[in-house]
Amino acid sequence: MSMEKILDKARLNDWIAALAKGGDWEVHAPALEDGVWTYKPVGDAVRMDHPNTKQPPKGFSFPQREVFFSFEQIKGEAPRLTQVMPDPKRRAVFGVRPCDGRGAVRMDRVFADNVNDPYYQARRKNVAYVGLACNTPPAATCFCKSVGGSPVSTDGLDILLTDLGDRYHVAAVTETGKAMMAVAGSPLADAAAADRKQVKQVHGEAVAQPQRAVNNPEAAPAKLKASFNSPLWEELARACIGCGICTFLCPTCHCFDLNDEMTGTVPIKGNRVRTWDNCQFPDFTMHSSGHNPRENTAARLRQRVCHKFQYFHENFGMLQCTGCGRCVSECPVGIDIVAVVNKVAEHVA
Ligand code: SF4
Ligand code: SF4
Repeated sequence: MSMEKILDKARLNDWIAALAKGGDWEVHAPALEDGVWTYKPVGDAVRMDHPNTKQPPKGFSFPQREVFFSFEQIKGEAPRLTQVMPDPKRRAVFGVRPCDGRGAVRMDRVFADNVNDPYYQARRKNVAYVGLACNTPPAATCFCKSVGGSPVSTDGLDILLTDLGDRYHVAAVTETGKAMMAVAGSPLADAAAADRKQVKQVHGEAVAQPQRAVNNPEAAPAKLKASFNSPLWEELARACIGCGICTFLCPTCHCFDLNDEMTGTVPIKGNRVRTWDNCQFPDFTMHSSGHNPRENTAARLRQRVCHKFQYFHENFGMLQCTGCGRCVSECPVGIDIVAVVNKVAEHVA
């Protein structure tokens, strides 16, 4: 059964305080720091007038660096391993945009459905996403609608907030969301028929806002497959400097590396550490022989784009791109994934 409530904006902090006190949630929300929107533990006042955060919220379940276990080897003894599991704190993340909620769905497919990653799952089960519908004009780089999303999508979210001026409409999506709305001391009030009517209208207007688009996205996987040997990739990647910003900021990129970081030599001590890796770096696929199967930026750009629009679709039946636009807005040389997909599709046609 759906649950819809209304929250006076002036009482948002009261709800957050109730979640912290009554629900034992550590609440995070977007904060503007040095001109950059980023998720921070909530301080005195929460603002949710952010366009989107620079980094997606994927770090709550897949941090950029995490220790799996520590090890110690004393000469003549068996090595001692101590597993380091994530702390079990429950974290509620406010202000997640619908494209990033859909990013969480894709991360779950990789780390919770496809393989059983205990570190990811230990964090993910304690993270709740309180989404915020996009009912202001989209950024020039947004294209969520053409990749199956919507500015009011609830995919991957536990709750969806909709800004109604001086109030939020609060809709539960999951059982966790319902429990958060019903937490002791919650200032949420029942939504009236007029509120439901207003939110329906606001959502309709949001969905009707024009956005840029991937043309004919259903055909993209086949078109990209046919483009594998196209010389067009050389041309499209000519400006790429291999900085990796596009993948580090993507809500669905999930490649990682494992390393042993030594902290002592007698006895041998250290940590097994997972860190994000990046398919746009030359050494990502470098073999120990020196051979590199993706030897140039063209092969690496093709990998990034085909992973989003072909390979992930073949493996999971969904595009891996959610149209957040970060890789478009942040690429220092202006490489634009929408333009790339559209140009490749046009070329192979
Ligand atoms: S952000 Fe742009 S320049 Fe940097 S690796 Fe990605 S496509 Fe290349
Ligand atoms: S590929 Fe680019 S636009 Fe698509 S989800 Fe990743 S960062 Fe966002």
